[in-house]
Amino acid sequence: MRFGDFMLTTKITLLLSVLIFSVPTLAADNHTKTYDVIIVGGGIAGLTAAFYLDDYDLLLLEKEQQAGGRATSGQYKGLYYAKGAEYLGTPEGPLKEIISKFSLRLREIPAPADVILSEGKMYFGDYGKAQLLVKKSSASELNRFARQTLTVYEKYDDIPDLELSKELKRLDDITASQWFQENHFSPIYSEIYNVTFRGLFGAGSDEISALSAIPEIAFDFEGFEEIDEENTLAEEFANSTNSTEMYSFDRGIAEIPLALANHLGNRLRTGTTVVEVKREEDIFAVTGIQTDGSRRTYLAESVILATPSPITLKLAENILSDEQRKLLKSVNYAPYITIALFSEEPIFNTGFDLAVPDGLIFTDIYDATWISRHYHEKSRNHETSITLIYAAPFSYKDKSLLNMTDKELMKRVLTELDTLLPGSSNRVKDFNITRHPYAYPVMTPGSYQRMTRLHAITGEGLFFAGDYMIYPTFEAAASSGQLAAERVKDWLED
Ligand SMILES: Cc1cc2nc3c(=O)[nH]c(=O)nc-3n(C[C@H](O)[C@H](O)[C@H](O)COP(=O)(O)OP(=O)(O)OC[C@H]3O[C@@H](n4cnc5c(N)ncnc54)[C@H](O)[C@@H]3O)c2cc1C
Repeated sequence: MRFGDFMLTTKITLLLSVLIFSVPTLAADNHTKTYDVIIVGGGIAGLTAAFYLDDYDLLLLEKEQQAGGRATSGQYKGLYYAKGAEYLGTPEGPLKEIISKFSLRLREIPAPADVILSEGKMYFGDYGKAQLLVKKSSASELNRFARQTLTVYEKYDDIPDLELSKELKRLDDITASQWFQENHFSPIYSEIYNVTFRGLFGAGSDEISALSAIPEIAFDFEGFEEIDEENTLAEEFANSTNSTEMYSFDRGIAEIPLALANHLGNRLRTGTTVVEVKREEDIFAVTGIQTDGSRRTYLAESVILATPSPITLKLAENILSDEQRKLLKSVNYAPYITIALFSEEPIFNTGFDLAVPDGLIFTDIYDATWISRHYHEKSRNHETSITLIYAAPFSYKDKSLLNMTDKELMKRVLTELDTLLPGSSNRVKDFNITRHPYAYPVMTPGSYQRMTRLHAITGEGLFFAGDYMIYPTFEAAASSGQLAAERVKDWLED
């Protein structure tokens, strides 16, 4: 999108939002039926909820023209690239079931999936990361770090099943930085993981809780055995499997929401922006505005709000309890921007995801064609290359990233890119920018206590789903949708 088009779109969107939220509420009208359930939001959470409520009379309302939310793909000259979520871990639970039901072809991301750039040198995969940590600290410190993380991780469970023992509650109350400090880990641990956390949560070690950081660290050390020195480290990793345990699809993660949306058929109404949810005795009235400006109210016995918490709060403000309002309000979101760079020659193609040294506006550089080039002969000879830049703020509280114009953003990104990979900017022929104002619900201290409580007080026909209810990943968002569907079933059967 050109800069002028972007400004125009932004202005129109702002104007529409003002109009939408300032039109006085009408009473429920032009409805003909009462649905069992209305789901608001066609991201993976809402779509998964719909998948598990397939036997019920449901309607899913989505504001955009396409479902998928933060997990959509773009296309350029026949190649696909992610505009948000990039990959999954080994699918379990609802995602495993959905992938199997729609026979989607999962692609394991070929190694090296993770690359770290430190002092001009690239370190490949989990072994590379461990090698760098040993080099900058010691084998015994790496052992202690891995042991400490895995010991806590063993006690870990997903929300809402997680039992917050005294120890886990304390880890929920302190930041990841505090945890690094109180365990006297060398600064390199905090440095490396700070950029990982900015990439994964849009917030750094001193903003997220220790409890939310631990699963991500544990992922790097699964099955890790103690080592004596760097040589045994090499043996340890040589003996481990070559599996990266990171997955996507030929068209990106978006294949999952698209399959779910397709299955819904006309039970999915895209281009409908919900502006209010009211309760009229035992029935919910959900009002949406369609792209042609017409306003329509739908009735249902239950509602799942599968929208980011600030939107959920706005839509249902008048029917929430004081505690629900307070908890939803306490969820902070980090902004995030993804930039697709189109070139004839590859900019970065020695791994899937290059984590850059901390201190730059971006955290990761992805080779968007890494998967297709590995699995498809045709893509190997393609004359187009797509590189993705993932830009995150240094603090989630800083929203200035979102206010940067395309021009400012590109200038900054290309300058920084040249310092890392000299000469890259000359190769860029075109670009596409996606802004995510609600990119990640930040797992600030107290998040697990907040989520546990939010699950406990949700009910009475009104349910919430979304990544802010469990963990800021695609998979967790899907689980939140499944959970909301189970609760709707209980409610309808009562
Ligand atoms: C840049 C980026 C990279 C990421 N990378 C990964 C990754 O690699 N792996 C991973 O596991 N996770 C990743 N994530 C996180 C993952 O994308 C999210 O956790 C997940 O997609 C959230 O799904 P959701 O359904 O909760 O929310 P969303 O996807 O935000 O869905 C909410 C939906 O509600 C709709 N909506 C909003 N307001 C209204 C309204 N008023 N009326 C109707 N509809 C409305 C929206 O249009 C949207 O479709 C990434 C996120 C970002 C931003």
